[in-house]
Amino acid sequence: MKKIYFDNAASTPLDPFVGEEIMTYMRDHYGNPSSVHSYGKGAKVLLEETRDLIAGFINCKPKEIFFTSGGTESNNFAIKGTFFKNFDSGKKHFITSSIEHSAVLETVKYLEERFGCEITYVMPDKNGIIHAEDVLKEVKENTLMISIMHANNEVGSLNDIKAIVDGVKGKGIYVHTDTVQSMGKLKVDVKVLGVNYATLSAHKIYGPKGIGILYVSEDTQVDKFIHGGKQERNMRGGTENIPAIAGLRKAIEILNERMNEDIAHYTSLKNKLINDVKNVYGDCVIINSPIDCNCVSNIVNMSFDWKRCKVDPDMLIINLDLKGIAVSGGSACTSGSAQPSHVLRNLGHDTNTAFSSMRVSFGRENTVEEIDYLLECLKDIIQLKNEKVNA
Ligand code: PLP
Repeated sequence: MKKIYFDNAASTPLDPFVGEEIMTYMRDHYGNPSSVHSYGKGAKVLLEETRDLIAGFINCKPKEIFFTSGGTESNNFAIKGTFFKNFDSGKKHFITSSIEHSAVLETVKYLEERFGCEITYVMPDKNGIIHAEDVLKEVKENTLMISIMHANNEVGSLNDIKAIVDGVKGKGIYVHTDTVQSMGKLKVDVKVLGVNYATLSAHKIYGPKGIGILYVSEDTQVDKFIHGGKQERNMRGGTENIPAIAGLRKAIEILNERMNEDIAHYTSLKNKLINDVKNVYGDCVIINSPIDCNCVSNIVNMSFDWKRCKVDPDMLIINLDLKGIAVSGGSACTSGSAQPSHVLRNLGHDTNTAFSSMRVSFGRENTVEEIDYLLECLKDIIQLKNEKVNA
């Protein structure tokens, strides 16, 4: 049976060169970067070279880069670190959006429940875009922080973070953005965005799981996140994950060389899928992703109108899996739970429509023929009521 992986927004495959690099470091370069001997120094050189490379990639200074265990930790670090650093300021108001990743939503919920913080959730428009003016009108005297994702993981909508930063200039409000889904799909330049913090995760860009970055601009005061050793300039204790960092370095080197090619590839696949699915299902398929602008090119989220289609909402993703096709019905982090996607619900879909939805997210290895196969399989799984599906 064919096996097709269309779930690259959940996690990309490991690039083979990245895998080799990780193995080399696991096997041959096991020194602890804090050690003073040559083994330790070798590891330290890798650590700092990687920091330099990433700094160049996102346009910041190496000292503004902190290695973390991934996107979830980086989001926690930025939000809790800001709150604790400013604990005595009395500022307890956070603005975020209703369609953030759970790594942000659960973190602010914790601050609300545990410390009485006030959280404002800005709603997206029907394309999943959070508008800067909607964020800015929520700003209050005691607003401490704004955390709005750059690109949404379920529908791929892109937000104008710079407009938010410009709108709060001089007000002493921290701005964090989660760039986990935009990194590698467009040029992320943290100085152009102007944020205090940006989050990155390696396993969405052909790197390993369990390693990520938090960018913290040099003028930002953040609280130490993990107490222990003096690693990461005394902000995050714990021996650095050198093999994973070596893998991240390789992944960024590869991305540096081929990002434009990747984007062109994703864009042509996205256009084909949307055209093909529209040809078959017409207006019985709702494309939840923005199409031409304000979006990343690798994500297509669609819902089937269950009132006009024969579709078993509970079985859609499983039926595709039985045919060898891996797509997502929501964010990977929440799939497995029987809750409809909070993102699709916030776009205005009812529970059944949310369940009759799928996210196709492209990667480097996907082909036009794989989209043809997906369409063939969909025709078996979802039919228009009263009408024959276009052959
Ligand atoms: N933020 C976004 C937008 C994501 O899509 C994800 C993962 O799906 C995360 C954060 C969490 O990243 P990690 O898996 O590296 O913890």
